[in-house]
Amino acid sequence: MRVLVIGAGVGGLGVARALLAGGHEVGVYERAPALRTGGAALTLWSNGTGILDELGVSVADAGARIDVLEQRDQDGRLLVSVDVARAAAAYGHPHVSLPRRRLLERLADGLPPGTVAFDRACAAIEQDGDTVRARFRDGGVAEGDLLVGADGHRSVVRSQLWGGDPTEPTGWVTWQGLSPMATDVTSSRRGVMVVGRAGMCGLMPAGDGLLQWWFDVRRPSGEPMPSSPLAELRRRFGDWAAPVRDVLAAADDADVEFFPHYRHRVPRTWGSGRATLAGDAAHTMPPTQAQGANQALEDAWALAAALRAPSDLPSALREYERSRSRRAGRVARLAGTEVTDRYGPTLSRLTPDGLVSRFHTRWLRRISDYLATR
Ligand SMILES: Cc1cc2nc3c(=O)[nH]c(=O)nc-3n(C[C@H](O)[C@H](O)[C@H](O)COP(=O)(O)OP(=O)(O)OC[C@H]3O[C@@H](n4cnc5c(N)ncnc54)[C@H](O)[C@@H]3O)c2cc1C
Repeated sequence: MRVLVIGAGVGGLGVARALLAGGHEVGVYERAPALRTGGAALTLWSNGTGILDELGVSVADAGARIDVLEQRDQDGRLLVSVDVARAAAAYGHPHVSLPRRRLLERLADGLPPGTVAFDRACAAIEQDGDTVRARFRDGGVAEGDLLVGADGHRSVVRSQLWGGDPTEPTGWVTWQGLSPMATDVTSSRRGVMVVGRAGMCGLMPAGDGLLQWWFDVRRPSGEPMPSSPLAELRRRFGDWAAPVRDVLAAADDADVEFFPHYRHRVPRTWGSGRATLAGDAAHTMPPTQAQGANQALEDAWALAAALRAPSDLPSALREYERSRSRRAGRVARLAGTEVTDRYGPTLSRLTPDGLVSRFHTRWLRRISDYLATR
């Protein structure tokens, strides 16, 4: 089968690898002139690393292993410590935090030459009979048997299929960076979330002496951007205990990226006929559960499974969408509540570590089609 994939992010490259492995012919069409490698670091949980393993993509030597997640208050007091290594042991796949650039490079490595075409922005899709077509802004057209819109949270393919943009801002935003910083977190296997009145600060080792740091704050959409994001962050978080204040002192405005949070309801049907979606195009969610990229890999894995022996392609696609919408919808609903950012220190302090660790292990299986089959 000839498959057109729109977008070369984690979702599009994951779909390409999974479908090539299934014997399909794949062309990926990317709007940008090269892989878009910004976006600091990502955490891949056992579901994401397990699927990568099946796709033959190794991240064992990239980034940092994460065994523990701590929540602290703004004065540095430990509120709860989650033993996430428990889930990694139960499912046989580690949790890894790695630069997004490294993940994209690994996914693209080993694709047959010419699989990804850059500077090809999809403008519209159309279908008739057994053929689906992508029309590009440069006037070109590509034809295939199946089209997968993996073109992210402002998806053109989704707007054609759903008739508009369903996403809405949650009122929270992330400012983040990935920097070589020597803190007690940088060389550990520990992620730290610090919560307080001003918002949340997350710190995650990302390997090679890099620290991923981010600040989640409430911010009404339309509020003008500060001329120096760091000055704004220092004003809000500068009196928090180390290492937060050390990170803010060492960071540079040039390192800071800004991401407003968006959410939408994940419907049971994503596509029609021979067109479907994968990744953020199908389920845009705030990053509070660190699952967006993991869920994009879940889509790739599930789509390849659905296409293994389809008697009827449109029915196989609708079945793929139905099954993925259950679990991706579950995590998108929780992420959309911004619960991680809103949790008060008191509730966390009263929650026993063992209970949260067991919950985390069960939760991963509940949001993963891949782990549910293990
Ligand atoms: C601050 C932040 C932190 C995050 N942390 C994590 C984390 O720790 N773990 C995790 O799992 N997830 C995380 N996520 C979510 C994760 O980044 C996304 O869910 C994931 O990257 C989605 O991948 P995608 O391929 O679906 O979309 P994208 O990465 O957006 O890729 C879409 C691609 O399509 C291209 N494109 C767009 N329009 C067109 C067009 N018309 N024609 C052709 N190409 C087009 C784009 O250029 C892009 O390359 C985080 C997100 C944010 C914002």
